[in-house]
Order: sequence, then C-alpha cells, then structure tokens
Amino acid sequence: MKKNHSQQNLLQKLPSVDRILEIVKTKPFSENIPKSVIVRSIRVVIENLRSQILSGNQAMTEKSLADTVVLEKVKANMQKAMSPNLIRVVNATGVVVHTNLGRSLLAADTLENLTIIAGMYSNLEFDLETGKRGSRYSCVEDILCEISGAEAAMVVNNNAGAVLLCLETIARGRKVIVSRGELVEIGGSFRIPDVMERSGGILKEVGTTNRTHVHDYQNAIDDDTALLLKVHKSNYSIVGFSAEVSLKELVELGKAYHLPVMEDLGSGTFIDFSEYGLLKEPTVQESVASQADVITFSGDKLLGGPQAGIIVGKSQVIEKIKKNPITRALRIDKLTLAALESTLRLYRTPQVAVESIPTLRMLTLPFKAIEKKAQGLAAMLGNTDNPLMDIQLLDRSSKAGGGALPLLDLPSKCVGIKIEGITANAIERSMRNNRPPIIGRIEEDFFIMDLRTIREDEFLFIKTAFDILPNDL
Ligand SMILES: *Cc1c(COP(=O)(O)O)cnc(C)c1O
Repeated sequence: MKKNHSQQNLLQKLPSVDRILEIVKTKPFSENIPKSVIVRSIRVVIENLRSQILSGNQAMTEKSLADTVVLEKVKANMQKAMSPNLIRVVNATGVVVHTNLGRSLLAADTLENLTIIAGMYSNLEFDLETGKRGSRYSCVEDILCEISGAEAAMVVNNNAGAVLLCLETIARGRKVIVSRGELVEIGGSFRIPDVMERSGGILKEVGTTNRTHVHDYQNAIDDDTALLLKVHKSNYSIVGFSAEVSLKELVELGKAYHLPVMEDLGSGTFIDFSEYGLLKEPTVQESVASQADVITFSGDKLLGGPQAGIIVGKSQVIEKIKKNPITRALRIDKLTLAALESTLRLYRTPQVAVESIPTLRMLTLPFKAIEKKAQGLAAMLGNTDNPLMDIQLLDRSSKAGGGALPLLDLPSKCVGIKIEGITANAIERSMRNNRPPIIGRIEEDFFIMDLRTIREDEFLFIKTAFDILPNDL
C-alpha cells in the first residue's frame, strides 16, 4: 500500500525500542521486572503503533506517539505480561458444570490433600508394605470398586481417553455395534465415530436416529464383531416416538453371543439425583449392576472431582486395558490422583458428598437459599450510590452443564442490572474485564447474574466492580 505524506511523517516519529528502554529503566514501575518482559512489551507497543499508522487510523497523531503516551502503554502491557493468564473468575452464569470455566470445583478436604501431595514426596508408585514398586492406580482402585460395586477399576486422563483406550483394547480392527441414536458429539470435538476410527475399531451403526431395537443389534452381529457399545446421550434427548435398548437388554444379548458390552456413561454419577428432586441420571452403580463388562465416565462432570477418565468393570477386561501400552500415554498425574482419591472417599456417605462437593451442593441448592443470596447481593449493590442503576430480582433457571441433564431446568434467582446510559453489552464487557472477571449473561437489556453458582464471599468483588464502573462506557 502506498503511504501518504502524513503516514510517512508519523512513521519517522515512532520512537525506537532502545530509546524507550532507556527511559523505562529509570521508572519505578520497571523495578523487579525481567528485562526480557520489558523489551518485549516495548516491541509490542511500538509494533502496534506502527500498524495503526499503516492502517490509516485517523486517530493517530503526533500526540499518540509522545513518550508519556507510549510509556503508559508499555506499563500496561508489562503489568499484563507479569500477571498470570489462568486466573479465577466469578461464575455468574448459573451453569454449574461449566466446561469453559473449569467444570468442577473441588471439595475443601480435597484441596488440603492436594496441597500436601503436590508439595511433598508420596507413595505414588511405592508399596509401603513390601517396600517395592507399587501401582499408580492402587490408591483409587479399591475405593472405586467399593462404591460402584465393580470387580476392577482403572483411571486415565479424561473420559475421551478412557473411551479411546477401551475401544483400542477390545475392538481394534474389528466391529463395534452402536445405535444411530447414540452417535453423539460432545463439545470440544469429541465425536463417537471419530474416536472409533482413531481407536482402530470399525463402527457398525444400527437402528435409526429415534428408534433402535434389540433385533437391530442382533442382526448386525457377525464373526467380526468385537463389542456392543452403548453411549449415554449426555447433552441431548430424543423425545416423542422413540425407543432405545437398555443396558440390561444389551448385556443379555452380549451373553447370548459371547460378546463384551461397554457403556460410555459420559458424566457418570454415584448419586441418584431423582432422590434430590432432580431428573434421573443413570448411576454408575446401576450400570455395574447391569453387568456391563466395561463402563467409562468423567471425573469432573457430575462427579465433581478433577479431570479424569474412570474405567470400571470386569477384571478380565480391565486387566487387558491396564496392559495396553496406550495407557502410558494417557497416564493420570499424581495431583489428579490425589484429588480423585479424596473426592471418591466422600462418596462413601452420599449425604457427605452432596454437602461437601461444590458441584453437588450447587445442583441441589434449595431455591430459598438461592433467593436469600440474591436478596443479599441486590441489597449490597443497592448501596452503590448510582441513581441510574436499576437492580431487579429475576426468576430464571440454571443448567447442570457439562453435557449432563440437558432437559433439567433448575429454578433459580438472578440479579439483573440495568444502568441508564450504558448498554448491557458494555456492562458485560466491563464485568468480564474486571479482576477477578465476573462472567454473567445478557438478556433483554439486563446484565444477569445467577446466584446458584456465586459464592457469598464473591459479593464484594461484584460490588467493587460496579462501584468502579465508569459512567462513560
Ligand atoms: C463428556 C463426555 C465424554 C468426554 O469426557 P471428557 O472427560 O470430557 O473427556 C465422552 N463421552 C460422553 C458420552 C460424554 O458425555
């Protein structure tokens, strides 16, 4: 692109990195900041100015290139570079298992255990009784068997890995029969047909989208069949004229043909949510009782633990899975193991699990308790001395999230904010740019915060964010 006269003039006025560096070094704000960060920030700022000039931005004048202006930009850039990228946020979305916001929060006991195991040596792969090398998985295997009723168990990085590993072990080069109604895609690019392909298993689809019968599976079985697979339709539901084959029926069919049966439960829960007034989700115990050979589920969806892929089932299959070399590539980290073991221990008493695991506590939080929190936050924000602010308590519903309980609407109370002269979009952006960021949603001119997922000790962050909100957004 041809540069005009004023662009050329501005380009000549751009300060050099070296000159700005000399000035920055004399400023207190550069103390204790590594030189590499300072230089990088200066380069970024100058490059940015250069491209704005070249793009013909009319707002660029000689003033935009003044040392004081450049220094402010460098300072801001340096501060950003020095603060961590992964930071806590306030989840005001009401989506409990929010995959983009870190899915599950760990229980207090779990955090304590995590700190010790992270900072100290441990018996990770050391058998304290024999003094010899031990198994990394032994710390969770017994407890998984105890609460699920399964013969054997094993854990990997995440459920996607668990499914891949099981399919590769059981069905590489052979057919896996799956209902067309269960060829799911989970957010973040997990698709059953794709995972199947990568595992080397050959997908044999049966039935139709809305209806699949036992005889559909039966007719598809041949000498090349290795596995019958059932996949939990985590994030959607087929209603109306529909039929699916239960795990029990599939296991009966498997027995008749000497074929193993696998279930990808997706979320996986040890708690029967229908006992807490929520919708029924199949529990891990029920799947185990149905005698499926292998069952996989996530550690950080409805279970409320760390990211992990849990595999439970019959010893014979689990032993084969443990010997698969891919297991090593999907190996679970010791921090995850520590968090998982202590989360699982809480499930020995379901009531304790529901009270102490944040995911479960938020899902089962009574409406009255949420309403009380909403009133508390609204009262606190009401003290803001901004006459232009309209604060309302709104009835909305929260979601379980994490690809679980898609039909469940949890009645909840929200605080909606409207400010005269500021758009809801501008409020949302400003809350998102707050530290810590406050992530809510926009609905009909309101910035909405759902109290189900907000802790009371986060109210002050929200109040402060609104107190410092500029009124010229
Ligand atoms: C979520 C889900 C997965 C993937 O689990 P991750 O733990 O996120 O890897 C696989 N299958 C089903 C049915 C799921 O719902």
